[in-house]
Amino acid sequence: MDQLNLFPNMNTEVFSKLTSAELLEKNKYLLTFDLTNELLIKKDKVLYSEEFVECINEMDFKDYVFAYFLKLEISVETYLASFKPIHDEGTYHCTLIPLDEYKQMVHKDDCYKATVYYVEGSIKQKVYYIKWSNKCESIRESHVELPLVSSKKEMSTLLNGVLEEVNIKAFHVLDVGQGSSNIINYENGEGEEKYLFYDIGISLHSTRDPDYSRYMGLYESISFDIFNTLIISHWHEDHFLGIFLDQSGELFKKTWVVTECSGTWNAKRLCYINSLCGNLMMIDNGLTGLLYENTNLSIYKGEQPKKKSIGYRNGSGLYLYFKKGSDNLLALGDVPYDYAQSLLTKSNSRSLKVDTLIVPNHGSILQGNFIEPRLSMKTAGFDISNAVISAGVTSSQHPNYETLSELFAKGFNTLRTDVECKVFNEKDITIEF
Ligand SMILES: [Zn+2]
Repeated sequence: MDQLNLFPNMNTEVFSKLTSAELLEKNKYLLTFDLTNELLIKKDKVLYSEEFVECINEMDFKDYVFAYFLKLEISVETYLASFKPIHDEGTYHCTLIPLDEYKQMVHKDDCYKATVYYVEGSIKQKVYYIKWSNKCESIRESHVELPLVSSKKEMSTLLNGVLEEVNIKAFHVLDVGQGSSNIINYENGEGEEKYLFYDIGISLHSTRDPDYSRYMGLYESISFDIFNTLIISHWHEDHFLGIFLDQSGELFKKTWVVTECSGTWNAKRLCYINSLCGNLMMIDNGLTGLLYENTNLSIYKGEQPKKKSIGYRNGSGLYLYFKKGSDNLLALGDVPYDYAQSLLTKSNSRSLKVDTLIVPNHGSILQGNFIEPRLSMKTAGFDISNAVISAGVTSSQHPNYETLSELFAKGFNTLRTDVECKVFNEKDITIEF
């Protein structure tokens, strides 16, 4: 890893590409840039070469399962003034400036403090100042075509062959810190025990979160071979970074149901390897609403307006609705309530009543919540509806105070992974069916 010069000790130029711009509370943007350098570009060239396709079984593809990126928080004003005009879908030169070199610099304008990450089996990070310069025209990306699922009919045909019946037994919301990871345990039509992942994230705050070793320990204890399907709600690191921790390579042999990864280097690597070793179902971004229905499970995709900025991924994510007998559960990923309106056709009313709501976007402020508890604490005897929040140490408010008070006012009993799992020393919050 050292010879790749990922965390240089002197000013070093790398290449960057904006992959996500999320508006946080407090009028801040969280920007994510995928990074690469000359040596990683060479690595990618091997991955995307024809020789690699021919030798995939003999070659250790795990050498190519890595993510290199940076995250920074900036004010909305700076973002609009300095970043938006220059950071389109292109690749830009940028310089990583170590802190001690930054201190000695005379002209410190246009330098931004950011955390650089490298993930390959474990998560490594270092703080740098970053200075962006001109657009880079010389990097020619490998043109691999990843097949897209472009109709709901195609999606049904493909998924029916994989999932058969999904007779859900339990939905586990794992405690992974600031991130989202859920395991669904179900029986298929033949009564066989099956598992699927809905997101497989882990917190990036490995230095700030005192519980970090717990999350790592959790992933180390999971045998990935028992899973048949991996559904990734959207390509944000806090929802997919766990894939890079799978040392066995088992996850790559599974069926993946994912949204488009265009515009990223890190997610594209994963999807490409899955397309060779497993079964990739990448859903065309043009498809929205109800995509798939099974006995107990419906899969939806968010209805994000087209005018949203390139880096905005939350709204077009995949979300799940389970119904078994009289029980139901809704897991929204990071899809805001407004973008999940298709659910209302199911309920034929202005609100949807749920027993368990997996609260979207870790409990950040989201407008237009039409979700109501089906069994309110106020009206029902012992039965209550739960709202589960996947939360952890972060710089923004996840969960936000307003979200918590809204859920409480509606009559939800709120369960948070960062509180519940710590108090009872559990690895997850389990909803049984
Ligand atoms: Zn998230």
